[in-house]
Amino acid sequence: MLKDKVAVVTGAGRGIGREIAKTFAGYGAKVVVNFNGSEERANSLVEEVKAAGGEAVAFKANVADFAEAEALMKFAVATYGRIDILVNNAGITRDNLVLGMKEADFDDVININLKGTFNCIKHVYRTMMKQKYGRIINMSSVVGIEGNAGQVNYAASKAGVIGITKSIAKELGSRGITANAIAPGFIKTDMTDALSDKAKEAMLDHITVKRLGEVSDIAETAAFLASDKASYITGQVIKVDGGMSL
Ligand code: NAP
Repeated sequence: MLKDKVAVVTGAGRGIGREIAKTFAGYGAKVVVNFNGSEERANSLVEEVKAAGGEAVAFKANVADFAEAEALMKFAVATYGRIDILVNNAGITRDNLVLGMKEADFDDVININLKGTFNCIKHVYRTMMKQKYGRIINMSSVVGIEGNAGQVNYAASKAGVIGITKSIAKELGSRGITANAIAPGFIKTDMTDALSDKAKEAMLDHITVKRLGEVSDIAETAAFLASDKASYITGQVIKVDGGMSL
């Protein structure tokens, strides 16, 4: 489905990003596995992909840093000659009610989730324009659509990601480039592991399909959006939440 396409996946050492990178490689893409802190896990994923006959390389970059995001895209082009797909997946939470939320909790979440998305798009822009081809997939969240108590920073960042997605879709649509956002509900990763079993059970009550989400649920959606089968879909926000937000 993605044969010979070149993909950059941010935050791909673990969690949803890891599964996206692995899935894309399985569909034939050459993948740049970006990591920030998870070097070992990123390297192990590269080995895993290669052992399965695929192509991948790891590259360290903090997406919140403008110059590091630029270095990531330059590395991808130097390694594989082009960038067909960018998945802006890197993200963090620093949850608290506003009363207890520190300024740094707000700034860190905005800088990584929102500015990191801008930084990566900024540095892939010319490459995709020249190619007259590109697929940009941004990781939002149902929280960016619905809001959530204790997550004003995260909700603002993920709502902002939707704004970027729709704007960039309009900006680049005539150049063969699509931009879409995925809004996951509750997906089992380190990010959601912190929640108590009680909180997870309460969450299940609201999930129509009566199971928590798997990383593969997101990865397969991303693969479809990254493929040529989705060339007429742009500026959309696809909820992948098992009906949680119905
Ligand atoms: P996770 O398991 O906590 O993983 C977070 C990933 O983001 C890691 O790979 C981490 O890389 C990377 N990252 C964090 N800061 C970074 C930075 N400054 N530069 C580069 N990479 C950075 O989270 P997840 O659940 O897989 O979430 C992935 C995305 O989906 C996030 O954008 C998240 O907001 C979104 N999402 C998740 C859920 C859910 O239920 N899990 C729901 C809605 C949306 P390192 O470890 O290398 O630092």
